[in-house]
Parts: sequence; structure tokens; C-alpha cells
Amino acid sequence: MNGSQSQSVWRFAPSPNGFLHLGHACSALRNQDAARRTHGRFILRIEDIDTGRCRPEFEQAIYEDLTWLGLSWETPVRRQSDHLGEYALAIDQLDAQGLIYPCFCTRGEIAARVASRPGWPRDPDGAPIYPGLCRGLSETERRERLLAGRHAAMRLDMEAACGRVDHMLGWTEYGEGDEPRDVRAEPQIWGDVVLARRDVPASYHTAVVVDDALQGVTDIVRGLDLFHATSVHRLLQTLLDLPAPVYRHHCLILDAEGRKLSKSRGSETLRDARRAGATPADIRRRLGLPAQAAPV
Ligand code: GLU
Repeated sequence: MNGSQSQSVWRFAPSPNGFLHLGHACSALRNQDAARRTHGRFILRIEDIDTGRCRPEFEQAIYEDLTWLGLSWETPVRRQSDHLGEYALAIDQLDAQGLIYPCFCTRGEIAARVASRPGWPRDPDGAPIYPGLCRGLSETERRERLLAGRHAAMRLDMEAACGRVDHMLGWTEYGEGDEPRDVRAEPQIWGDVVLARRDVPASYHTAVVVDDALQGVTDIVRGLDLFHATSVHRLLQTLLDLPAPVYRHHCLILDAEGRKLSKSRGSETLRDARRAGATPADIRRRLGLPAQAAPV
């Protein structure tokens, strides 16, 4: 809980771009168990703005798999695509603070620029830090490119943004336990992150902080693969004057070769496990979770 007297709000926020695997089950069950334990609310949020990769059949499969696992959630289900207007407002707010700029670079152009510079720094996801090619464009150059029909992503000017917030920016982290610890945020390790993509009018970072605030989320349980992203989220929450949830990043579920489960690599899905005869209790056991969630 976040220390206030009000009811806690938990959420599971899958993207319908593949079938859920054990890692998703781990986040979903931990969220719902904690919501039940604390008499809190539990929200399901479908993160569907990446229209190139999301599919209705995967969304349907999310409902089926979660129901099979024994989960229930508030209706209506929340969905990112209902909030494009709110994401645009958040971007406008940052623009008004002079903290974002349009970037016309393609991935190929960025890769070509850093290829000639061995040892160029990378972000926690392994992508090269944006080399700042469009940061210094004049207003006239920006206008000319936009008028010529070039599409732009919007990037955060990370140095300027960090200059606007307390250098002690951080968050409360519980990990998998009950003891809180303070973590210092280090958003600068991401460089000038994208806040609105060329093809989608937001990015994960923008959508997640706006949605968590809109939906009053107090406690965020998710995998450790998103631990470093929390630095960017805390920075955006502060710049946009949004409340700070507390965070509980849990260990990742690994496959037999010790690799993180992933949709793209075809890791065993929950439906594979179900077809092979596993029960929801087996899934809990495999995840090291207590046999049964506390009663509501
Ligand atoms: N939609 C993200 C995913 O499927 C999770 C976002 C979050 O929990 O913050 O990985």
C-alpha cells in the first residue's frame, strides 16, 4: 500500500501482441493476490496502441487465459487506445515546458551514425543512446521538414528535463517482499527517449504514466525487465505533476536455458501448459506462489 488511508489500486497491463506466458501469469497473479490481501481494486488494462502488432484474437486469449487462472477484474476493461487525447495533452504540457523536440531520424540513420563510433553508449534495453542529431535543429528546419511531409517522433530532451527536477528523484521499491527501500532514479541512462512514435501518437513511457495516474493506480507490480524504465516514469510523473505509485518489481521467469521468456522467441505459453495438462494450481506452484489467493 502507499501509506494513505484510501483503497489501493493494482493493475495488470498486457499488450495483445502474442499469447501470455508464465512471466505474464506471475505479474497478473501477484497483482490480484495483493489486491485481495489489501482489499484493494484490481484493473486489467489492454495496452493496445501498437496497432501494427496488436490483434483482437490475442486480446480474446488474454481474457480466456486469465479467467482460467482464476482472475477476475473490474469492468469495463481499460484500454490505452481510449486515451490518445490524454497522451497528446501530456505531450503538449512537456512541449510548453520546452522539453521535447521532433526527431526525423529513422532507426537505420541512427544505427549508421553510431556504427562508426565503437563503444557508443547503449540504454538498458541495449539500444544505442540517441546521438542527438535532431536536437539542435532550428525552428525553420523543423517547419520545413514537417511541411515536406516528413513524419517526426517526439523525443524528451533528457538533459533539460533532468535539470527541472530534484536530483534526488527516486521511488519506493518493495521488490517481492514487504520491506520498502528507496531507489534513486537515473533517467539519464536512457538518453532522449521517444515520447510519441512516428506511427503511434504516444510511446509506452507516455501512455503508462498517464494511464496509471488516470486510473488512480497506487501499486505497480511488474517484472524486473521494467525496473530501469521506472526511472523515466518517475521523471515524467514529476514533470507532469502526477502522483507517484510504489513499485514491486518481481524476478523474471526463465526458460530451461536460463533466458527470459519472450513472445517473439516462442517461449512456452500458458495455453501450451494448459494443453499439456497443467492446472492453475500447477502454474502457481511453478511460479513459487502460495497455493491459493487469500479470499476476497
Ligand atoms: N504492457 C507492458 C508489457 O506487456 C507492461 C507495462 C507495465 O506493466 O508497466 O510488457
